[in-house]
Amino acid sequence: MSRFVDRVTIDVTGGDGGHGCASVHREKFKPLGGPDGGNGGNGGSVSLVVDRGVHTLLDFHFHPHARATNGKQGKGAHRNGANGEDLELAVPDGTVVLDENGEVVADLVGEGTRLLAANGGRGGLGNAALASKARKAPGFALLGEPGEHRELVLELKSVADVGLLGFPSAGKSSLISVLSAAKPKIAEYPFTTLVPNLGVVTSGDTVFTMADVPGLIPGASEGKGLGLDFLRHIERCAAIVHVVDCATEEPGRDPSSDIDALESELARYTPSLSGNLADKPRIIVLNKMDIPDARDLAELVRGDLEGRGWPIFEVSTANREGLAKLGYALAEIVEGQRAAVKPAEPTRIVLRPKAIGGAEFTIEKDPDTEGGFVVRGERPERWIKQTDFTNDEAVGYLGDRLARLGVEEELARLGAVPGSPVTIGSVSFDWEPSTPAGVAVAMYSRGSDPRLDEGPDRPSAAERKQARRRRRGLEEQENQ
Ligand code: GDP
Ligand code: MG
Repeated sequence: MSRFVDRVTIDVTGGDGGHGCASVHREKFKPLGGPDGGNGGNGGSVSLVVDRGVHTLLDFHFHPHARATNGKQGKGAHRNGANGEDLELAVPDGTVVLDENGEVVADLVGEGTRLLAANGGRGGLGNAALASKARKAPGFALLGEPGEHRELVLELKSVADVGLLGFPSAGKSSLISVLSAAKPKIAEYPFTTLVPNLGVVTSGDTVFTMADVPGLIPGASEGKGLGLDFLRHIERCAAIVHVVDCATEEPGRDPSSDIDALESELARYTPSLSGNLADKPRIIVLNKMDIPDARDLAELVRGDLEGRGWPIFEVSTANREGLAKLGYALAEIVEGQRAAVKPAEPTRIVLRPKAIGGAEFTIEKDPDTEGGFVVRGERPERWIKQTDFTNDEAVGYLGDRLARLGVEEELARLGAVPGSPVTIGSVSFDWEPSTPAGVAVAMYSRGSDPRLDEGPDRPSAAERKQARRRRRGLEEQENQ
């Protein structure tokens, strides 16, 4: 199979969530108002989106790192931080996405098809949102989650819109080199697979790729050369160009017989392919017109070649004669082909960590730590990231959440004892069960501030209603 693949490794990072704010409302003559810290904004996400105006992965070779912006921190007076901006990276139709392990995660086909490649981190709740009946004035807020980070490999098979056929030294490499003038030396293209030669050509508004098929020589079907490897590639080209050397002095060669020889090789391969090679548009390029003998030969054979019904261009890669005209003609064919391809329906693909057998969490013995346990699960791991471990109250809140999920109970059941090392995500700590059995009820009432209850004013009905509403929202969020 052809190794003719444009391939690039990129890394994508969602924006970090903004931290929640811990703040207490202050007003004249009211020494301690309610908590009023706003929530942090969510980080922006990074998506790959198919854009049929993009035809190569070249941009990613130059810019392999992409990061969406962070959410802003929450502020006092219930001001929530702004969300980060989502980032969309345009990829060509047919881009295959692989993960770090080389597994295909998505085949992006169809204009607008998108892959959510890295989610932004959630913003942390501010202390206003964390307040509840049992925790009237939380002295902490949740941290924003870091954005997801992923390393992905993008692969684009069959990148050439135009395939060049021709005998060795006909000028295929030279033609690619002069047409893709923005990068005069093809070898400088940072594709990992540089065989065969590949160039990106800009002609008018059209950008297309061109590749030569260096090994397709007479006898290739008997194993000579490398042509067979590249034929699958040719199969997807919009056009096949015969590059003909009009200055060759080899006996027995002339433009017409050169073309016949290569066409017969193509025909021999056809049965192993989908059989549409014969229908591909052909163009004949008579090269080396700067040499007088070559021009004479071209005049001589032109009438005969025209009988094939294929457009003929006389060019010189040496003095650039006829190249612009050829470029426009190729661009027109490529555009025609692109317009004719029926766009596939866009789909939406989301990369998600696999659920662990449907359970909320799993606990296993830690292979690296004697008597230790590892807790895994989407929520416990997220909660760890949201916790400010320098704040005892925040740590206590984490304990409550884990207990409510049943983590404490399960640890006890598996034989954890006080002091057992427990690891969740990137954090390890010694387990302190809240009851001897490890069955946690609330360890103590956190966040209660006696001064609140002693306040001279009872909250108004409207304030109580608002607080109730906030609590209800919080309960939902806490259980997420
Ligand atoms: P390929 O084997 O088909 O890739 O051919 P190359 O592009 O490597 O060219 C083979 C030889 O022909 C090189 O020495 C080129 O300099 C020469 N060549 C290519 N195009 C022209 C041309 O338009 N005029 C002249 N005089 N020489 C050319
Ligand atoms: Mg060459």
